[in-house]
Amino acid sequence: MKRIAGLSMILLLAACQPAKEVEIEAPAKQAASPRNVILMIGDGMGLAQVSAALYSNNNRLNLERFPVVGFHKSYSGSDLITDSAAGATAFACGVKTYNNAIGLGPDTLPCITILEEASLQGLATGIVVTSTVTHATPAAFVAHQPLRILYENIAVDIAESNIDLIIGGGKTYFYNRRMDRRNLLAEMSDRGFLILDNVPSPRSKIDASRRLAVFTAEDQPPHVNQGRDYLPYASLFAAEFLSKKSDKGFFLMIEGSQIDWAAHSNNERDMIKETLDFDRAVGMILDFARKRGDTLVIVTADHETGGASIVDGSKINRLDMKFTTNGHTASLVPVYAYGPDSESFSGIYENTAIYHKMKAALNLGAGRESTSIKGE
Ligand code: MG
Ligand code: ZN
Repeated sequence: MKRIAGLSMILLLAACQPAKEVEIEAPAKQAASPRNVILMIGDGMGLAQVSAALYSNNNRLNLERFPVVGFHKSYSGSDLITDSAAGATAFACGVKTYNNAIGLGPDTLPCITILEEASLQGLATGIVVTSTVTHATPAAFVAHQPLRILYENIAVDIAESNIDLIIGGGKTYFYNRRMDRRNLLAEMSDRGFLILDNVPSPRSKIDASRRLAVFTAEDQPPHVNQGRDYLPYASLFAAEFLSKKSDKGFFLMIEGSQIDWAAHSNNERDMIKETLDFDRAVGMILDFARKRGDTLVIVTADHETGGASIVDGSKINRLDMKFTTNGHTASLVPVYAYGPDSESFSGIYENTAIYHKMKAALNLGAGRESTSIKGE
C-alpha cells in the first residue's frame, strides 16, 4: 500500500514537473516595418482548442514561440455569434458585416480586401487552405458575393482575380460542377496560371513568374486523420514562392480550415489533430520569418467553435472534453503576433482592428483612399 502510494506520488510529481519554457526566438536582425504579412487563421480555434492540443502534445506548441498575444471580439455586424464568412470579411476588409457575407459590407456593396489592396500596390498575394478554396474563409479575401454558398460565383471571382497563388480543394467548382458550363481552369490557364494537383516541394524550382493554382482535391480535402498532410509544407512553399515573386513583399493567408469542422462534430480527437497540424504550419512559418526578419506573422481564429472545455484528464493521458454547442460561440479569440510591428497586436480589440493593424504595418493606406467601409 505504502509502495503504491509512493509510486503514485512519484508519477504525480513527474506529471506536475514544469516543462522547460519555450524560448521566444527574436529574429537575428529585424526590419523597422514588415515587407511581408502572413495571416494564419485556425478556423474555430479558441483557447480550449489550443489548450487541448498543447496538453496532447507533451505540453508543447509552436504557438508558445510568439512574444505578443492579444484578444479580439469576434461578433459580426448582424449577430453576437459570427459565422466564418463575416469573421473572415472582418479581417479582410475591416468591416463588421452580416453573417453569410463574402467580401461585402453590411450595405451589400463589395469592400476592397487587404489581399486586393496589396496586389494593387505590387505585392505578391496568396492563399493556402485545407477546405475548398471557395469556402467562406478564403473566399472573403478574394471574392464578393452576398451568400457564402454561392460557390460557383466565388470560383469565378477567384479565376478573375489577380491572386498569384492559391492552394486548396474545390477543383470541381471550376470546371465540372457548374451550371454555366464554363471551364474556369482553361480560363485561368489563359490568364497565366499553372494548374497543379499536388503541392510542389518548398525546394522545387517553379518559375516565379508564373501564377499557381494547386487543387488538392476535387471537393473538400480529407481530414488529417484520413491522411491529409500538406498544410505545413504548402505553407512554407507558399511563403518561399511569393517571396521570389515581388521585391515589394507579399500578403499570404493560411487557414487550418477543419479545426472548426471537428469542433462542430464535438469530436475532440480530430479537433486536436487538426489543431496540431495547423501548429506545425505555424512552426514552418515562424522559422521562415525568423530567418528573414522582415515578415509579420499573425495567428488567430475567426471565432471559437463548440464551446469546448477540458474537464478531466492529465498532461500525459487522454483529455476528457465537453462541448456546450454544435455551433460557434462568442468567446474572445486569442491573437498571436511575431516580427516587425507585432507589438500593435497586444491588448483587446475588435476583429476588424486586425485588418487596420495589418494595413498600417504594410503601409497600404499611404497615398490611396480605401473604398472600404470603416469598421468599429
Ligand atoms: Mg474556414
Ligand atoms: Zn464553423
